[in-house]
Amino acid sequence: MKEFLRLENVSKLYTGAGGKPVRALDDITFTANGGEWIAIMGPSGSGKTTLLNILGCLDQATTGVVRIGATDTSTLNRAQLARFRSETVGFVFQQFHLIPHLNALENVMLAQYFHSMPDKDEARKALEQVGLGTRAAHLPSQLSGGEQQRVAIARALVNDPKIILADEPTGNLDAENQIKVLNILSGLHAQGRTILMVTHDDIVGRRADRRLNLEHGRIVVPKQLTAEENQKFDEVLEQLWMAREREGNGGAPHLESTHFTTAQHRKLTTAMAQVGLVTVSGWNVQFTAAGEARARAVIRRHRLAERLFMDVLAMRDDAVIESDACTFEHILSPELTDRICTFLGHPETCPHGSPIPRGECCGAHRSGPETHLLHWESPK
Ligand code: ADP
Ligand code: MG
Repeated sequence: MKEFLRLENVSKLYTGAGGKPVRALDDITFTANGGEWIAIMGPSGSGKTTLLNILGCLDQATTGVVRIGATDTSTLNRAQLARFRSETVGFVFQQFHLIPHLNALENVMLAQYFHSMPDKDEARKALEQVGLGTRAAHLPSQLSGGEQQRVAIARALVNDPKIILADEPTGNLDAENQIKVLNILSGLHAQGRTILMVTHDDIVGRRADRRLNLEHGRIVVPKQLTAEENQKFDEVLEQLWMAREREGNGGAPHLESTHFTTAQHRKLTTAMAQVGLVTVSGWNVQFTAAGEARARAVIRRHRLAERLFMDVLAMRDDAVIESDACTFEHILSPELTDRICTFLGHPETCPHGSPIPRGECCGAHRSGPETHLLHWESPK
């Protein structure tokens, strides 16, 4: 892949309240290759929209060089910028920004009008590309949020842009429509378009090739976690999982005695929130989707290891089993975990009766939660 985008020492200063300067971007340097899909992430106010607007020539940097393809956009005047934008960039916004009294087809054709000549057939093709061929005559108010966002994507596509710039494109959508829109973006990525997408959502961010994290207008490189930190995170995730199991059983939710002090627990959950595993609000710690998936995997490895030790290796000392399972839960690969699960016949519970979360390998062998009371017998 060839370099397509380059920002060098880009800063953007706004005049804030009381005439005070706000440094929305602070000396940003990065490059992107043609065809890359990059997720721009960071807290609110960190400069994500400003960065996207500068890339999309809706705004210009205060200082620094912005090069897109062979063009240094920092040298263009207003008219040249507008022209470059309409030829090169397709925008998708969180608020879909459709014209309410124009139907889907007309909304797409309006974008053509600004670019070149409206062309009904082309506009229709763009709608078909996002799966809305049959909705062309609908007004935005007659379309669901997800459909409106797809019209907005069709509008962005109609000029055949090299770059798609999307600012929280799934921010106003439910899970199902989020997936539809992400799948469309995947398709555009596969066509070789460069995509820069702002998102708050870790799951959405993971669809991209890589992430750019912004904080206070600067690019931050996420700190690499040590194996020890990761193990501690896993322990906290397990505790959360088990606390939830107890609540589900109607038992009094109490946290198992742990060797973390309250202060350590606090520090760990704060760090875990920063990497998107949990959300913390007061003393209430909740899984994010990513955290829940990881907790599920750790619990599964732990409980499968217990089964293996007791049923196959005939180990009987609870303390040894527990400590070995704790080691195994950190080192088993997903493949080996599934193999152990298959070897054991996809057991439903650990030797102490707690449910083992299903894995991909369990698909055809377990018929869902209604069977979880069935007794599982160990292989002879
Ligand atoms: P994000 O999209 O990450 O939430 P923005 O790029 O919108 O962040 O904003 C970055 C910073 O620049 C914020 O402090 C914001 O208040 C400020 N800012 C953005 N646009 C303007 C503007 N037009 N005038 C003054 N300040 C602005
Ligand atoms: Mg923003």
